Amino acid sequence: MKVSITDECTGCGVCETIAPDVFVVEDEKATVNADEIAGNEDEIKEAAEECPDEAIKIE
Ligand code: SF4
Repeated sequence: MKVSITDECTGCGVCETIAPDVFVVEDEKATVNADEIAGNEDEIKEAAEECPDEAIKIE
C-alpha cells in the first residue's frame, strides 16, 4: 500500500485522530509516516473515507 496526501489537505486533523501512528499534521498539512503503513491498513482506509477534503490517496 502506498499512501499520499494531495494539496487539497486543509490540516483538519481527522486522519491523525483515526491513525495517529501514520498521519502527522504539521503546519496545517498532513504527512505520512511510511514506516507505519504496514499493520495500519484498516485505519488508513477509514481515514481516507473520513477525510473531509478527500486528500488521502491510496495506491
Ligand atoms: S483528514 Fe484530510 S484534510 Fe484533514 S488533515 Fe488529514 S489529509 Fe488533511
